[in-house]
Amino acid sequence: MDPLDIVSHLHKIKPVYQPVISAIKHDVVGYEVLGRYEYEGEWQSLGGFFHDPDVPEEFKVEVDQHLLHLALSDMLTHQNSGYLFINRNAKQLMINDGEDLLETLLTFKQKGFPTDRIVIEVTEHDFDEEFEELSHLLLYYKTFGIQIAIDHVGAKSSNIDRIRQLEPHILKIDTKTIRTHNSEGFQDIMFSLSMLAQRIGAALLFENIEDDFQLHFAWKHGGRYYQGFYLARPSFQLLSKEDLPLHLGHKINAYIQREKLLIEQRLFLVRSWEEKVKGILSKWDGPKKVDSFINWATSQFDQESFRMFICNSDGQQVSSNFRKYENSWSQEPLKKGSNWAFRPYFLESVMQMKTSSKGMLSEIYSDIETKDLIRTFSFPLTDHHFLFIDLQYSYMYNHESLLI
Ligand code: CA
Repeated sequence: MDPLDIVSHLHKIKPVYQPVISAIKHDVVGYEVLGRYEYEGEWQSLGGFFHDPDVPEEFKVEVDQHLLHLALSDMLTHQNSGYLFINRNAKQLMINDGEDLLETLLTFKQKGFPTDRIVIEVTEHDFDEEFEELSHLLLYYKTFGIQIAIDHVGAKSSNIDRIRQLEPHILKIDTKTIRTHNSEGFQDIMFSLSMLAQRIGAALLFENIEDDFQLHFAWKHGGRYYQGFYLARPSFQLLSKEDLPLHLGHKINAYIQREKLLIEQRLFLVRSWEEKVKGILSKWDGPKKVDSFINWATSQFDQESFRMFICNSDGQQVSSNFRKYENSWSQEPLKKGSNWAFRPYFLESVMQMKTSSKGMLSEIYSDIETKDLIRTFSFPLTDHHFLFIDLQYSYMYNHESLLI
């Protein structure tokens, strides 16, 4: 399609609306506006037109402005009270200092479409050039109540500082990335993104959700909003909850039940380990004989663990390492005296154990020595001595509840 044909036939252009669905009430909270062009009797996507760097930005602005007018009018006609998500690239926004867009939005505000129901999507990719100008403009838009979403977040982790500076309302995560990245790498990206979102008070929106696995992933990783063919295809109509083929409430309920079951299983394991340690506490013969105590304990945790040791409440290791190679345990006395208090959550956990007198299970983390993913179960032997039992990955792998 010739870009010139497209701009000179605006009457052949129509918006389609892709529903944005909320995890909170499971209903449609808004729509992302996409463009369609009628070509030889068929409605074609305008994605190619908008992403083509050779198409003049002025053309894109004109088509986008046209789509926006139609969309806002549609929303008003149907008395739809949802959000309208619109895509704009940095160059487009910068034309005429972004006044055209603002003017349209303010005109429609007069007609009854409040500016705080507009979400402008800019891509992270746009941050590369002229970030200062772009951020000024977006912060200016925000003063009118207009919301900002960052599209395709996570594609480049180097932008975290800029995202923080913009304090967008929404971070949009492309679920496709789950398919293309190795899952471990993506887990790490997800972890930093959800921390960031929490810090700046942004909601996570997962888009391009195409199957149950991805929806589950989005739900599990704190997605407040979802978008994708699995939930709803873009439509010329403003679809509502009743029109959706998938019953999100049923899906989410299944995730909840499954998650609860796994958590229950994990708590049951932790309880059984606590009982095991309590069962051998009579062997505890004071801090001078820690190694012989662990020697006892290894036989109790032979299946679960590959490494055990004891620290005091200052984080200092007071025992040898007991380390399992192949199938037998050996003692590594040189580790005695190491201090682990610098590790994240170490002192927090120790103090928790001390005050609650209960064992604790860590989150999953990568072991410094083996690089394997592990978890640590720890237990307060006394107010000052804490037993650490590192779980081996092969054991965790066989217990799904330890992998979540
Ligand atoms: Ca988008």
